[in-house]
Amino acid sequence: MNRLVVRLSVAFATLILLVTGILAIAIDRLADSSFRRYLAQNQIAESGLSERLAIWYAQHGSWDGAERLLSVGGMGGGYGQGGAQRPLLALADATGRVVADPHAIVGESLNATQRRAALPILVDQQVVGYLVVQAAGNRLSRAAELFLQRLRDIIWITGGIVALTGAVIGIAIARQLVQPLQHVALAVDELRQGHLTARAVVEGPIEVRRVAEAFNAMATELAAANQQRRQMIADIAHELRTPLTVIQGNLRAILDDVYPLSREEVGKIYEATVGLRRLVDDLRELSLADTGQLTLHRQPLDLNQLLAREAALFRELATVQGVALHVTLASEIPPVIADGERIAQVVRNLLSNALRYTPAGGQIMVTSTAHEQGVLVSVIDTGSGIEPTDIPHIFERFYRSDHGRSRAKGGSGLGLAIAERLIALHGGQIGVESEVGKGSRFWFWLPAA
Ligand code: ADP
Repeated sequence: MNRLVVRLSVAFATLILLVTGILAIAIDRLADSSFRRYLAQNQIAESGLSERLAIWYAQHGSWDGAERLLSVGGMGGGYGQGGAQRPLLALADATGRVVADPHAIVGESLNATQRRAALPILVDQQVVGYLVVQAAGNRLSRAAELFLQRLRDIIWITGGIVALTGAVIGIAIARQLVQPLQHVALAVDELRQGHLTARAVVEGPIEVRRVAEAFNAMATELAAANQQRRQMIADIAHELRTPLTVIQGNLRAILDDVYPLSREEVGKIYEATVGLRRLVDDLRELSLADTGQLTLHRQPLDLNQLLAREAALFRELATVQGVALHVTLASEIPPVIADGERIAQVVRNLLSNALRYTPAGGQIMVTSTAHEQGVLVSVIDTGSGIEPTDIPHIFERFYRSDHGRSRAKGGSGLGLAIAERLIALHGGQIGVESEVGKGSRFWFWLPAA
């Protein structure tokens, strides 16, 4: 009973049976009374009562005393043949006021329905009164009884067929409604058992289709997240392996007296641990940003000031590398509301990347401009540039366009992924345009305060 298909079927079937049952009873009653009334009217018409009433009225000019004609003898021999009972009669005047009635209160007026059902009594084509068949007697002639019984049989058999067909159609509709839901439930079960490729068939009514579509979208996202998680674990394992191999190999060599236990050798091992530490710190920061646990200390910030300060930090390094570093800042830029330390971190990442991929003789330019939605910052270099096929991926975790070379240059492959998260957390956007051999322009904008 708790199954939806059973409940719907029972509801449909009950409703249909109830409706056809009530209809059949109503039609049965109506047929019975209409048929009796029809018989009575026929018999009255045949009995010549209305003609006698008309003659009475013509002679007397009123209905006074006419009730005599309605009594037993008044009906003449036409009624009562075949053992049927006499109908109850009432007489109303031309205005519809009841003037003779053995059972109701004389003086009442006929309503519209009663008047329509009444036999008009005509004198010189003028309606002078109405003969009303109030209720037909309950005993009919044998032939009439048989006819009525047959009519009733037809009503009930038809009612039964309609009810049965309706109930069957109802059950079929219930099944049809529930089936798509069952398909979704099957897909949910499959997904729960770990089959991430499980998808629901989109079918049935709009509401169920929406559920199936939402489920499919969720399953796709789940599969993508699962794939991303696996890839992330593989990447982390891979990234940890390189510095650990270096550390382990160097320590082994020292233990085996292949390398001397000198400051230089220990220094190399220390460098490898610095890389490891940076990787672990970056991973932690990224996971905090992903889970929304990174606290931003936002306050009004002058981006020009920040850019000038960060560029100054890189100037010496750039000079040593033979790269010219220019800063061009727009004088009229609105303040932004941001966490200065986080934005500085993004700028440092872009500057260190620019330096890393720009050979001696190249140039780096830092600019700020007013942007329609806030402030636009660009870090432009004349370095190696990025392959068009790599551009859509470089903000992904651990993505490096030139794997061995980038790692050798000290990148964790997480810098841009972190920058992207930080800028998004500030409500801004980050992007890149690049041409191989010519250089790159990394940009981000932050909304104005
Ligand atoms: P990494 O720590 O390896 O630099 P990032 O996330 O900062 O990681 O950068 C991802 C990749 O994007 C880099 O490995 C490099 O291939 C490419 N890239 C980033 N900045 C530049 C740039 N200025 N010029 C050329 N390639 C760049």
